Formats: sequence, structure tokens, C-alpha cells
Amino acid sequence: MNKDHLLSLAKKYSCPLYVYNAEKIISQFKRLENAFGDTKSLNINYAIKALSNISILKLIKSLGGNIDCVSIQEVQLGFQAGFTPHQISFTPSGVSINELDKAANFGVKITLDSLSILKEFGNKHPKIPVAIRINPHIMAGGNKKISVGHAASKFGISKNQINEVKKIIDKTGTVINGVHMHTGSDILDVEVFVKGAEVLFNIAKEFNNLDYIDFGGGFKVAYKEGDTATDIERFGKIMSQRFDEFCKEYGRDLSMEFEPGKFLVSECGYLLTQVNVVKPNTETIFAGIDSGLNHLLRPMYYNAYHHIENISNPTGKEKEYTVVGYIC
Ligand SMILES: *Cc1c(COP(=O)(O)O)cnc(C)c1O
Repeated sequence: MNKDHLLSLAKKYSCPLYVYNAEKIISQFKRLENAFGDTKSLNINYAIKALSNISILKLIKSLGGNIDCVSIQEVQLGFQAGFTPHQISFTPSGVSINELDKAANFGVKITLDSLSILKEFGNKHPKIPVAIRINPHIMAGGNKKISVGHAASKFGISKNQINEVKKIIDKTGTVINGVHMHTGSDILDVEVFVKGAEVLFNIAKEFNNLDYIDFGGGFKVAYKEGDTATDIERFGKIMSQRFDEFCKEYGRDLSMEFEPGKFLVSECGYLLTQVNVVKPNTETIFAGIDSGLNHLLRPMYYNAYHHIENISNPTGKEKEYTVVGYIC
């Protein structure tokens, strides 16, 4: 975004201020749509935990996107933004049966991620079809904390427990209408996605009443200059073709779903702050700004890199500062 424009926004609304660039979100959304352009039925379910600002949700809706929610509060936020139950996927992990009862009443799409909950939910709501989240036993993701598809991860039902799934649904009468996976965040390698997809295709064959296959999110974007990103165009080509083949084998056209979070919004946000104090010590000069980890958690939480630029004095004499917030 243009620096003068950002500066004028800072002046108008004062700092600290979050600014989101809708154009960037729109272009990322279109990139995804084009990448999977050969797919007959594609659903892009924006994973709203990446950025749940209601104006962003409305923008996603206006583009024809759906949403992916991991708590009942996110589902309610989705309703407030105008999404219908069919446009909302509820894919939580480890929530209570009460929360799932609420989702059932709302009529949103439900994905279950454990055998015990599948049984409990099926006994209570035998007529409501559900999807199952599979753990494909694949290590993928930018760091260990955001890799959620490996064998030791808490997420999903192990790919080796499909017989148990069948035993449960034979008893409860539940229809499985989708299979789902999400293996991690910041996944660079297209081959890893393809490998995960093959695991899911194998499992999908075991269920006769599917409407959709959901391949999750995790597409990587560049965080700094020189960073590489997932080659989404290449992945789209491979997957569209493979999905089409699978549907022919399966005997019916299914819908292909993805749940991108970061891919859509990571490059759209700016946190505008102002320097409160300049404090030299023997090692460095601190520039203390009017924000902290209460507004931007990721550097403290993940050691995440966020680029910093001086936009009010871009041509001043360069000096090295340690930029710090007002907390830790
Ligand atoms: C967080 C999450 C996503 C999105 O992950 P990104 O790395 O932001 O694309 C997708 N699906 C589920 C179930 C998630 O929890």
C-alpha cells in the first residue's frame, strides 16, 4: 500500500491503527479461483481465525467465498456477517458436545475429529450427516507448533482408524458426507499437499455418500523479501486434474474444498504505530512504540518476522534501532 495513503490514515484515525488492504485479499482470492479453475465445483472456505474482522468477512462473502470456523462464536460471527448455514463449515477440535449440539441446531456443515465425539454426536443426531477430519500422518508446516497432520498430533482421526469409524456409523446410522484434512500452516512444498491428498482419496473411496472432500489450508506466502511461497498455480493444475480423475473413479462429481487462512490475508495488513520514547543504552537505541504484544502477538509467540518501515521519515539519516512495544 502507498506510504502517503497509510500516513494520512494514521493522521486521520491516530495510532495504533490496523489497516487492511481489500485489493490484496481480492487478488489472492482470484488467484486461488483461477488456480483451480478447471474444477467443476470448488468451494473456498476462508479460515476466519486468520483474521476475523467482520468487514473482512463481508468482503470474502461478496467474493463468493465461504468460511471455516473452529468455535461456535466464530460461527455466530459468520451469521452476523451474513453467511448462510450452508456457507459455514464448522471444523473444531476437542470442543464439547454442547457446542456441537448448537452447531447442529444452526444447520452448519459439521466436521468431527475424534471417534468418541463421532459416537456421541451420532447417537444424539443420527439424521445429521457429518464429515470426518483425517490425520494423514504427514509432517508438514513452517514450524513444529503449526504442524498438525503428523502421527503424534492431536488433530483428526488417524488414517488407520477407518474401520472404527465404520463400526460406529453402522450403529448410529450417521451418513459421512465429507472427508477433511488440514496438515499445517506455511507449507511450501506442493508435493506434500499432493501426498496428503492421495491419503484422503484412498479414504474417500471407503465412503459412498460423500458430497465433498476438503483439503484444508496451509498455503505459504512470503513473509519477507527473498522468501518463497507455495506455487499455488502449479498445485491448482495438478489437483484439479487429479480431483477430476478421482470423481470419475468415484462415479459422481464431488465438490473440492479448501480452507485458506493466511494465504488470503497475510499480506493485506498494516499495523501503524508511533514512537513514544527513544531510549539509548550501551548496546542499542530503543524505539518504544505505542503498541505491544496485545495488538501483535506473533513475534513473541512464534518468533514471527514482521517487516518494519519508517513511513513518516523515509528519507532521514539511517540509524539502527531496536523497536520495542510497551509490554514484554
Ligand atoms: C487454521 C486452519 C486453517 C487455515 O490455515 P492457514 O495456514 O491459515 O491456511 C484451515 N483449516 C483449519 C481446520 C484450521 O484450523
